[in-house]
Amino acid sequence: MTGPDRDQVPNQADFGYRRVPLADKQTLVDDVFRSVARRYDLMNDLMSFGLHRAWKDALVTALDPPKSRSFALLDIAGGTGDVAFRTLKAGGPDTRATVADINAEMLAVGRERAAAAGLADAVTFVEANAESLPFPDKSFDAAAVAFGIRNVPRIDVALGEAFRVLKIGGKFLCLEFSHVDMPGLDRLYELYSFNVIPALGRAVVGDADSYRYLVESIRRFPRREEFSAMLRGAGFGRVACRTLSGGIVALHSGWRL
Ligand code: SAM
Repeated sequence: MTGPDRDQVPNQADFGYRRVPLADKQTLVDDVFRSVARRYDLMNDLMSFGLHRAWKDALVTALDPPKSRSFALLDIAGGTGDVAFRTLKAGGPDTRATVADINAEMLAVGRERAAAAGLADAVTFVEANAESLPFPDKSFDAAAVAFGIRNVPRIDVALGEAFRVLKIGGKFLCLEFSHVDMPGLDRLYELYSFNVIPALGRAVVGDADSYRYLVESIRRFPRREEFSAMLRGAGFGRVACRTLSGGIVALHSGWRL
């Protein structure tokens, strides 16, 4: 079952290919990221052959942080801070970033990385659930979420929260794995995802299951058109989407108008 039919079962959510009680999904997701936090960045490089850096750069280019005025970014499900750091480097001296993530272990790695990069004064780490952000209405110039939204149990609620905390005229960007639509690449990607990635997880982190979840959760994420409709449903205007790397990843955008 995919798409709307799945959603007709109330109070359930996908956890990879398993259906679990909605209330249990967050705990299962938290276990995954607690387990991988220390090796998370290394695994991203290994799994994507470094491509995740180019995908995040595409997000930051679209964000286009100004050089000569203040700019406040909220990096939702920001984990170890990659998007925040890249935005700070691309923006001017008055750029600030807040990394909000539900997982203390991921945030701890992020704080260490910020200190090592000399960015500690420009970035704040906040332990928070994307479904109930602890920030006032209209408080950020932009909000972004990279590879995070598919982990959130109630995506529509999280999108509503992102909309709420954006200033009028603020931009929302969402980078997420998508569906490969290039003949040939799709088969190769499938084989790589289900065979190589869990094996890499076992070898590098000692945890194949977390990486199996990662692969399965990508397959369960809504298709691009469906996700664009969810963005419109949350209130965003001028919703757009472009694919990267043959559809492996999609960069969704919308504005609070
Ligand atoms: N954005 C980072 C990046 O691109 O490297 C991290 C992405 S990581 C794949 C997914 C992140 O989503 C994890 O750090 C996890 O803790 C976070 N997350 C999962 N559920 C969340 C929730 N309900 N609220 C906030 N963060 C959440």
